[in-house]
Amino acid sequence: MRTLSTVPAVRSAVRDWRARGESIGLVPTMGNLHRGHMRLVDEARQRVRRLAVSIFVNPMQFGPQDDLASYPRTLAQDSALLAERKVDILFAPTVEEMYPDGMEQSSRVEVPGLSDILCGLHRPGHFVGVATVVTKLFNIVQPDLAWFGEKDYQQLLVIRKLAGDLSMPVDVIGVPTVREADGLALSSRNSYLTPDERRTAPRLWASLRQAALRLQAGNKAFGAMEEEGRRTLVAGGLRPDYFVIRNAESLAPAGREDASVVVMAAAWLGKARLIDSSRVDLEALR
Ligand code: AMP
Repeated sequence: MRTLSTVPAVRSAVRDWRARGESIGLVPTMGNLHRGHMRLVDEARQRVRRLAVSIFVNPMQFGPQDDLASYPRTLAQDSALLAERKVDILFAPTVEEMYPDGMEQSSRVEVPGLSDILCGLHRPGHFVGVATVVTKLFNIVQPDLAWFGEKDYQQLLVIRKLAGDLSMPVDVIGVPTVREADGLALSSRNSYLTPDERRTAPRLWASLRQAALRLQAGNKAFGAMEEEGRRTLVAGGLRPDYFVIRNAESLAPAGREDASVVVMAAAWLGKARLIDSSRVDLEALR
């Protein structure tokens, strides 16, 4: 594995791969790699000849109140894990490399609609930061395929829409969420939890599962289930930003005829903002 920190160095490697007609994959991350990230890497490794993983804690997607300074950075450890998985290139640029004119003066990419709801409402500017950095990474690495986790469900849809709208020649592939034995979705932000909070955290997934099971049983009282989900989280000691049931493709409020819906929640627990989701295909149940 080669670790590269500049755009020209990656371009040069990509040029050689392309000249040989080799397929290229990209897994974008912010590092502090765990089994969730590794699932993306393992799936990607099987599908493409050349695999690049990026590690970049993108300041543009963090708001002023967010955890940019405290976000865990573990490059040496991450690099060892990726080398074991036979990743071809680890791209780990500096902020200056990615935003040479400064973030404020840099062009931005906006995905309207999808970016303005749910996490976008609670973290203004977040998805502009995500869409901008992913566009840059796609332009630098020029992957045929790129992998993203369903854990960040809204992000996955934003990126799919972005790639479609801007005619990017990349297939965006979603990967199911990797969980701890007690259901908690793996996340770098879980490290902010105290031992007590860690014991509480699986209630987020439990509340989503409860709603998903009801949906599978044919319950269509979406509003009542959302209300109950929020109440369950509050009663369990979490502070929900939202608990919603949405159309799995558009994220519009779920309708009785929807073939596929997703239960999504974001909730604070101590210093950590946890997000999770559960997709339910209703079509198959008809
Ligand atoms: P991050 O480093 O948090 O930006 O995540 C990088 C990629 O890994 C994103 O596409 C995430 O959705 C994905 N990811 C993070 N946690 C998990 C998980 N527990 N299971 C599957 N994918 C994940």
